[in-house]
Amino acid sequence: MLIFILNAGSSSLKYQLMNHATHRVLASGLCERIGIDGRIIHKANKLKTTTEVELSSHKEAIAKVLELLSSGPQKVVDNIDEDIDAIGHRVVHGGEYFHESVIIDESVLEKLEKLIPLAPLHNPAHILGIKICMELMPGKPNVAVFDTAFHQTMPAYNFMYALPYEDYTEHGVRKYGFHGTSHHYVSDVAEKMLKKDNAKIIVCHLGNGSSICAIKEGKSFDTSMGLTPLEGLMMGTRSGDLDPAVISFLMDKKDMKADEFVDYLNKKSGLLGVSGISSDLREVIAASQNGDERATLAIDIQCSRIKKYICSYAGGMGGVDAICFTAGIGENADLVREKVCQGLEFMGIELDVTKNKNTESHSREINTESSKVKIYVIPTNEEFVISNDTYNLTKA
Ligand code: ADP
Repeated sequence: MLIFILNAGSSSLKYQLMNHATHRVLASGLCERIGIDGRIIHKANKLKTTTEVELSSHKEAIAKVLELLSSGPQKVVDNIDEDIDAIGHRVVHGGEYFHESVIIDESVLEKLEKLIPLAPLHNPAHILGIKICMELMPGKPNVAVFDTAFHQTMPAYNFMYALPYEDYTEHGVRKYGFHGTSHHYVSDVAEKMLKKDNAKIIVCHLGNGSSICAIKEGKSFDTSMGLTPLEGLMMGTRSGDLDPAVISFLMDKKDMKADEFVDYLNKKSGLLGVSGISSDLREVIAASQNGDERATLAIDIQCSRIKKYICSYAGGMGGVDAICFTAGIGENADLVREKVCQGLEFMGIELDVTKNKNTESHSREINTESSKVKIYVIPTNEEFVISNDTYNLTKA
């Protein structure tokens, strides 16, 4: 079964064509600068091409991708109609409507429309991507896989903000959490590695966007992102947690409007804002190694926040069996893993410094023999989850 996986953004599209039976990725790529000028980076048949091509709309971009999949030197299927079986869409916000992935029909589309106020940048692009796929590949099932769905199991005392209750009932203001597909996938792998049912697991998904999730008995119990992905850890360009009073204080000082300030917290803060160098941790680490104090401070803030969330979630769950590191930073930055685990020996978390430096790219254990808590590096695979859910919902 071949599954086309689409992640539609406001001016970009990420896609993969996956053979579900073998988990082989036949083709993958990225359309950028849609509606501006246009570029397609496409990988297939061991060939990576970058084509500057006019992409005036999302429809034109998806049509071009389908053309690349079925013709020319990077062709991987003979006929889109016959060879592609289903389409899996990554959808950022499923609100309280969706606890799991669903086959998309009119009522699902209506709910996605209703959720636009909660995800004004993402959901309109997803709806557009879904409608275009329905038009260009008629008759094929489309499945929505939500970033928020996994977190719908959180107890109310973890998802509610301490605001007047009507803000939840009337406006849906609560913690939804994101990166759910990744947290779900990584915690499943960890549970198998632990060989223990009903385990207490903490997953640290550390990329440009970062979040932590506490998973108890296979269910999301708490997570660091909130109504939007801005809450929680310090990220590449996002501030994460701060005193809400900072907002009006700085808006006044900087003469900024509310939406400008949210943009400032989303795009100018985090590693980039503190270091003044980059949102890319590799560049911040390089600067720190060259003696840049702000770069060192940025890394220290990031690691300290992660450490505090781990302690808080272990407390919330009444213990922890495994800590997992995943995504770009979690999988590759041994420095971050070391700084996060340092000082947590009192909780039975003991990192093996040599194993931590190992750069193998498969799931692995990096704790000492005597560590009570397992520490794992587990490469995430959100596309696999999307492919899997799409397969399970659409198989005959
Ligand atoms: P996204 O959230 O965009 O999917 P990724 O999961 O790809 O992001 O993570 C990107 C982050 O991972 C960047 O900050 C990058 O610097 C960091 N990263 C990738 N490789 C390394 C490495 N070897 N050492 C340190 N940081 C790394």
